Amino acid sequence: MRDPTSFLGQEYRELVDAATDWKLRVLEGPSTPWCEIDGRRVLMLCSNNYLGLSNHPKLREAAIAAIRTHGVGSGSVRPIAGTMDLHMELERRLARFKRAEASLVYQSGFATNAGLIPQLVGEGDLVISDELNHGSIIDGVRLARAERAVYHHADPTDLDRVLVGAEAHAPAYRRILIITDGVFSMDGDIAPLDRIAALGHDHGAMVYVDDAHGEGVLGPDGRGIVAHFGLGRDRVQVEMGTFSKAFGVVGGHISGSRDLVNFAYNKSRTWLLSGSHPPPVAAACLAAIDVLEQEGEHVRRLWDHTRRFKAALRDLGYDIGVSATPITPVIVGDSHRAKALSDALLDLGLFALPIVHPMVAKDKARIRTIMNAALTDEDVGFAITAFEKAGRSLKLI
Ligand code: PMP
Repeated sequence: MRDPTSFLGQEYRELVDAATDWKLRVLEGPSTPWCEIDGRRVLMLCSNNYLGLSNHPKLREAAIAAIRTHGVGSGSVRPIAGTMDLHMELERRLARFKRAEASLVYQSGFATNAGLIPQLVGEGDLVISDELNHGSIIDGVRLARAERAVYHHADPTDLDRVLVGAEAHAPAYRRILIITDGVFSMDGDIAPLDRIAALGHDHGAMVYVDDAHGEGVLGPDGRGIVAHFGLGRDRVQVEMGTFSKAFGVVGGHISGSRDLVNFAYNKSRTWLLSGSHPPPVAAACLAAIDVLEQEGEHVRRLWDHTRRFKAALRDLGYDIGVSATPITPVIVGDSHRAKALSDALLDLGLFALPIVHPMVAKDKARIRTIMNAALTDEDVGFAITAFEKAGRSLKLI
């Protein structure tokens, strides 16, 4: 009999041969700037823990205290018996932080996009997506029964073309949803959300922004891209984000009108059918909001380090693309070159992972660095020197 699982090993070997397989590196201990990975002490430059909050004492203490008062699990999905006072408080505090009428917390950012997008649009509707949107948006869009259109990356002129075409559609679309990343996770560029929101307004379309990489980074107190552009809730109806990046914990969320939140928690299948956050997670997320509101130095230091690091890499002759945020891609060409650079950096004590096809185009393989506020000035100097040494030895610069 033929082995019905033979494709598993075969497809895996194809990935290995193309150097596009993931090699897991194991962190022994916390995700701090200097950490132990596979037995080696290295400087971490690829974590999403932008502000170092995953080890902030206030978050750690809040999590421990919540275990003492509430235990380690919520016992249920939110709509049945898994809504605790901590979840409600987190949503109230998040809405206040985001200056929104209401917020809703999901289990993850992925669960948010996969659970909400297919409810916002369905048959007879159109969803219009930036061509470089995150995979969780792409999957959310695939789950929707709506028609789909894609516009050129961060290009309002092309979006306008799609919207004008949509107006001529017969029968008229019931609803139109424009959806974009706030900060694009592979390139670090910022979506022109002000212009996208204006187009949405002009054409009667809803606007949904995934600000996973913008919150904790952009806007006053790191409130995110909507605050960065000073946009009203009537222009950006769904502000989506995650607690897994700058907030340092885990969990997705949306902010917007009370109607949006009431709609979302009654309809999102990922929210309705999957267990809610354990108490220590909800408590740590709450503490992260406190830290963002009270300790502005983390966001300031993140940007100081980012400016210095970008300028140094550019001076060294690296192609760092079009990033305007702490995500700095170092684009080197094919996947083999990216892996060679990543290995050379690791030998020098710097941990920065290569990003290769299919996550980015075949000839745009890169090392994606993410700056972190918890680095010292010396650490940033160390990272720059490592890129200089590794780049010269591989003749990339
Ligand atoms: N959206 C974007 C833009 C992301 O980068 C990510 C995380 N990679 C997500 C959504 C998913 O968030 P989470 O990790 O909370 O599932």
